[in-house]
Amino acid sequence: MMNYGKQFIDDDDIASVIEVLKSDFLTQGPKVKLFENAISNYVGSKFAVAVNSASSALHIACLAIDLKKGDIFWTVPNTFVASANCGLHCGAKVDFVDIDRETLNISVKNLEQKLILAHKNNLLPKVLITVHFAGQPTMQKEIFNLSKKYKFKIIEDASHSLGALKEGETVGSCKWSDISVFSFHPVKMITTAEGGMAVTNDRNLANKMKSLRTHGIVREEDFMIQKNQPSFYYEQKFLGFNYRMNDISAALGISQLKKIEKFVQKRNDLARCYDDQFKDFPFSPQKILKNTLSSYHLYVITLEKDFLKMHSRNVIYEKLNNQGIKTNLHYLPVHLHPFYKSMGFNNGYLPVAENYAISSLSIPLYYSMTESDQEKVIQIFHKIFK
Ligand SMILES: *Cc1c(COP(=O)(O)O)cnc(C)c1O
Repeated sequence: MMNYGKQFIDDDDIASVIEVLKSDFLTQGPKVKLFENAISNYVGSKFAVAVNSASSALHIACLAIDLKKGDIFWTVPNTFVASANCGLHCGAKVDFVDIDRETLNISVKNLEQKLILAHKNNLLPKVLITVHFAGQPTMQKEIFNLSKKYKFKIIEDASHSLGALKEGETVGSCKWSDISVFSFHPVKMITTAEGGMAVTNDRNLANKMKSLRTHGIVREEDFMIQKNQPSFYYEQKFLGFNYRMNDISAALGISQLKKIEKFVQKRNDLARCYDDQFKDFPFSPQKILKNTLSSYHLYVITLEKDFLKMHSRNVIYEKLNNQGIKTNLHYLPVHLHPFYKSMGFNNGYLPVAENYAISSLSIPLYYSMTESDQEKVIQIFHKIFK
């Protein structure tokens, strides 16, 4: 079976994990600090807070921004549920902005129209969570300009896009947002098994997130009420969690990050090959905008309308599956899950994302994919589509 994605682990990765197992620290220790510094350096952010998943990072990012009951936040429907769950955990109300048919990212036009309406109705969001779908950065500068006009904060869910660039700016520099969040789940750009990171240029947000990842505890004298205490002393100032990353994961992350540029390059090469080979096929790839380097976490195809009249996406999915190609759908629209429907969302509310979700598949693309693996995929596509 060839899967839509998988991790790549080499001997250096294994050696760095073994080194930690032989050391004094297994839980959060020196490797976590080094991994945070390495990510900060790479993306160009001032601060980084490592945690045990991107879902945790999104949660403490929302809390640090002070999203709470009575507030509204917006995100997109074409994402993993964690991009929306994080705000609900803070007690806030969710709404969704539909995506653009071609880039599959948040439609800035839809966003602006929705903001104008929300402004009239006094329903403006406090936070917008954007998602760089499949590794293509959103039009973050335009969104940032809207955030200044309508006074909302921005969290970039960059789970797909470590290594991506927009107008020369590395995703995670937070030039056009308050906080960006990365995932290190095995299918993502680099892995720590489970793991995530929030990056920001705001010292207060970073400190709050560092405290929230470990029960809301602070240890720096500047932030404590009691001064001149012995070093075992600490104070709990907020209600937080145990969201810490461990040193085993961090060591793996440090070793993986050294390979990010070749990961992104290889994924782009594979994508170019698919683009060329599938020019006359009855589906289209995600449109990548100018001045953009996608990290290509996913290679997504959208089946054409006419083709879909004769063959459903699910049938194509089964046919590929029977030939040993395990594709996937990213994503079932968040608002159509039973939990979200029970809040009042329904079919027809976000037509572009809904239509996309019945027409699309993510096909195999991963760093260790060989030329002959890709040839095999292309051959099978010829059999099924031609
Ligand atoms: C994978 C993913 C997450 C969650 O990441 P975890 O590290 O598994 O918690 C959140 N948002 C998006 C868009 C993702 O793809």
